[in-house]
Amino acid sequence: MYKKNQKILKAALSKLKTEGVQNLINGESVAAQSGETFKNTSPVDNKFIADIAKSDAADMNIAAKASAAAFNAWRDLPYKEKRDILYAIAAEIEANADLIAVLESYDTGQPIRFMKKAAIRGAANFRYFADKVIDARNGLSTPDTKHLNFTVRQAIGPVGVITPWNTPFMLSTWKIAPALASGCTVVHKPAELSPVTATLLCQLAHKAGLPKGVWNVVHGFGHTAGKALTEHPAIKAIAFIGETSTGSMIMQQGAPTLKRVHLELGGQNPSIVFADADLDRALDSTIFMKYSLNGERCTSNSRLLIEKSVYKPFVEKLIARVKNLKVGDPLDPATEIGPMIGKTHQEKVLSYGKIGVKEDGATLLVGSGKPKGLKGCYVNPTLFGDATKDMRISQEEVFGPFLTVIPFETEEEAVEIANSVNYGLTAYIWTKDSAKGHRMALNVESGMVWINSQNVRHLPAPFGGVKNSGIGRDGGEYSFEFYMETKNISVALGDHPIPKLGA
Ligand code: NAD
Repeated sequence: MYKKNQKILKAALSKLKTEGVQNLINGESVAAQSGETFKNTSPVDNKFIADIAKSDAADMNIAAKASAAAFNAWRDLPYKEKRDILYAIAAEIEANADLIAVLESYDTGQPIRFMKKAAIRGAANFRYFADKVIDARNGLSTPDTKHLNFTVRQAIGPVGVITPWNTPFMLSTWKIAPALASGCTVVHKPAELSPVTATLLCQLAHKAGLPKGVWNVVHGFGHTAGKALTEHPAIKAIAFIGETSTGSMIMQQGAPTLKRVHLELGGQNPSIVFADADLDRALDSTIFMKYSLNGERCTSNSRLLIEKSVYKPFVEKLIARVKNLKVGDPLDPATEIGPMIGKTHQEKVLSYGKIGVKEDGATLLVGSGKPKGLKGCYVNPTLFGDATKDMRISQEEVFGPFLTVIPFETEEEAVEIANSVNYGLTAYIWTKDSAKGHRMALNVESGMVWINSQNVRHLPAPFGGVKNSGIGRDGGEYSFEFYMETKNISVALGDHPIPKLGA
């Protein structure tokens, strides 16, 4: 398997190195108007992958106009045709899942064991929303005695999708599949640190029969290409996934053109383990939800809140498991943790090892520092214990394989610690006491709660955060609420009275 992955990568790289990664606007592969490019490297070995189109407002303008020109025809395409195109995109993704997974893994540093599944989930997103196209325009009937009122949903228009670097392929499908199912056209600005699979995905969509201009990809940096997308008057809404501070900027940039925004932002999520829980399952889940996807996962539990009476035995087992995590080349199916996305992020994660010891005074239980003998942007999986809620390692989003353990004594204290951060994306609650589990679920400040479970995404369920973790929800019907306008139509049922002025 490892050799097969390396072979796929070698062939793909030779093509990428010579051709580079271009924008895809109106169905055509085009360089940036300025002719400029930027270099993309792999965090696995710091080697060159490809020259990427370095776009700016001029390219964004062309793409926004292309998406506006394609809008009416796409919106009005009969549902069966739209649905079948989305099915065909899903099939193309599945047929190319190995290539997508290998490229994503090399570009982001994410272990291949997760990336193969992420590619397949990308296809599932398209298939799910293909099935929902038939219901996208549905509304409500709110009849009165003299008027029949009913609502219809109509696609909002061309939308911008801006995605981060952590699992770019799957995240972009979460946004783009419902946008297309709604009848919107799309301009996608992928993250500059992991741009490779975005153009590939859009190419596959065109191969599947998507009309030109319906989905455009424009590469570049956030403060130029991204900003121009959020400011463009033809773009009616921005679906954004990324950092909290960037989300705030996007709201400001979009304000003059009254952009609708959906923001999926950062997290500092708790796994709250009570003494009465199935502790073995709680342990498996807490490790998985922190150390999978390199800990670069918005829904990861970065804080373990553990009841004091079981702190010692639980943390002993945790230490043994974290020490045993396999760090290495993400293309190796045995690898559990790959490199961080790049040098800057590697330095950031490493700095929290120092902050935890020197500034916070927590106990370093495992890791910190770089693993020996690995050339890329690797960090050792790290575990801190005896922490308190106000420490920086408890409050800030590290976004790496870095877990902070905080003991608690009572349910009230667990709630207070859980809610002591500015974020509120997810919470994981472990207890066999069903009433306590439900109370906790109501009392923790987060957009999503799992009781006795890791994060298991259910596509119709709402996804999103509260506080600094975001605004808005997507998933199922919630996505249609974002990508569509609700119009009320009122029909008089007879000759009801009309006030007469000037009569
Ligand atoms: P980021 O905010 O730095 O960048 C995200 C995207 O925004 C990139 O494409 C970037 O080019 C663009 N961007 C930057 N400045 C911009 C501007 N002024 N205008 C328009 N676009 C701009 O985030 P990142 O570092 O790529 O991703 C990591 C962050 O994403 C973490 O905080 C993580 O928690 C968050 N995230 C959240 C979710 C979620 O669902 N809540 C999912 C994944 C990642």
